[in-house]
Amino acid sequence: MYLTCPQCHSNHVNKNGFNRLNKQLYKCQDCGRQFVLHPAKGPVSQETLELIDRLLLEKISLAGIARAVKVSEVRFPPNFVPQGLT
Ligand SMILES: [Zn+2]
Repeated sequence: MYLTCPQCHSNHVNKNGFNRLNKQLYKCQDCGRQFVLHPAKGPVSQETLELIDRLLLEKISLAGIARAVKVSEVRFPPNFVPQGLT
């Protein structure tokens, strides 16, 4: 696999452990930028939040839902309070 830094497009990229979601981390040796491959981009859509809400009603854990909808838990809006948790 051919890796390039998302910031400076250097090929001098090394593996740099895992983040708390167990994703492989990479670090650029040229600019020092640390990144994961194919991170989700943009805000979480309202549609996805509604899906998360429905999944919570099925007693699925937030971590499981995050994996299912491919949205990192940390990217849930800070003020997002799913009805399933109340
Ligand atoms: Zn770089």
